[in-house]
Amino acid sequence: MTALLLQSMTRHFSLEAKQGHARAGILITRHGTLETPAFMPVATKATAKYVEPRELVEAGTQAVISNAFLLSLKPGHELIKKAGGIHKFMNFDRVIFTDCGGFQMLREGIFVSTKPQGIVFKSPYTGKEALITPEEIMAIQADLGSDVAMVLDYVAPYGATIEQVKEAATISNRWAEWSLHSDAAKKSREEGQLIFAIVHGGIYPEVRKSHAAYLARWNFDGYSIGGLSIGEPPEKMFPALEAALSELPEDKPRYLMGLGSPLEILEAVKRGVDIFDSAYPTQTARHNSLMTRKGIIKISSPKYAEDFSPVDETCDCYACKNFSRAYIHFLSKVNEPAGKQLKSIHNIRFLQKLVSDARRAIIEGSFDEFFESFKASFKS
Ligand SMILES: [Zn+2]
Repeated sequence: MTALLLQSMTRHFSLEAKQGHARAGILITRHGTLETPAFMPVATKATAKYVEPRELVEAGTQAVISNAFLLSLKPGHELIKKAGGIHKFMNFDRVIFTDCGGFQMLREGIFVSTKPQGIVFKSPYTGKEALITPEEIMAIQADLGSDVAMVLDYVAPYGATIEQVKEAATISNRWAEWSLHSDAAKKSREEGQLIFAIVHGGIYPEVRKSHAAYLARWNFDGYSIGGLSIGEPPEKMFPALEAALSELPEDKPRYLMGLGSPLEILEAVKRGVDIFDSAYPTQTARHNSLMTRKGIIKISSPKYAEDFSPVDETCDCYACKNFSRAYIHFLSKVNEPAGKQLKSIHNIRFLQKLVSDARRAIIEGSFDEFFESFKASFKS
């Protein structure tokens, strides 16, 4: 057994530096390391929209997240296992996280009902209903061969009452234990797959705190924070986040699910979050919103029709190095896929650079100054 593998099984996360609550760390997985703070573009169906794996890598992407539940329906986890696992299937040799599908509870047309033993979903492809249990979702993720697997969770929508949120968090915690102790998870963990729990509790700090404390007692490899960034205002999100973080172990990675806007990412880094994912950069790109050092620009605006400068002159992405605002504006106007590709590459690169700059600042002890200076120039 190599020293690296041994290290990954015994000590898969280490902190390199801390400034206040902000952390710079390294997560070691069986497909390489993730330097944190890190941002993961979403590759829900084993692909990012309009962006190829090699372009993700060129943009500085260390990890992506795919959806285990949706992939189990199509093309099927057995097929992906036959292909040699998700890394080979999609040809991405860096870190891959998989989400369990609990988040699909918020999607009308897919979520049917919950039962004590799991969630009933309707396939968006065939309309067929199926019960997904904690044990099954771990077996699916073991077949996919992702580096980090999520336990099955119960996601309450924003607007749920405190009683509903408490019940959802209690069910999530029970399913987290069942997931962790399933035969599939035990075996895949031995093979190097990391298992993350998901902390719930909605916007209620006291519920977040007690449920995070409960999960912290179990030996998970990391802790996700779910059910935030689903429509609640920042003044409700951040206290709930802080409450969860206060109970999570220092020596385990913390992953805030679904947060992607630059200022909110930095706010969360400041509070001690290590990992992020969001469809934000690619989704907003397709809607012509491009992040620049001076704020967001709407590339479809007529004012860019004859602007031959790059989207962001400080950006080193493929789109900014080779194409003008005028060209990308034109591609957007005629709705060409190449426009969506260039815009997505730029937005992904923007966030990758942001988190790596934040990391460097934490290591150098200048995170607060970095954050202040970013805030002053970035007008969202
Ligand atoms: Zn760029």
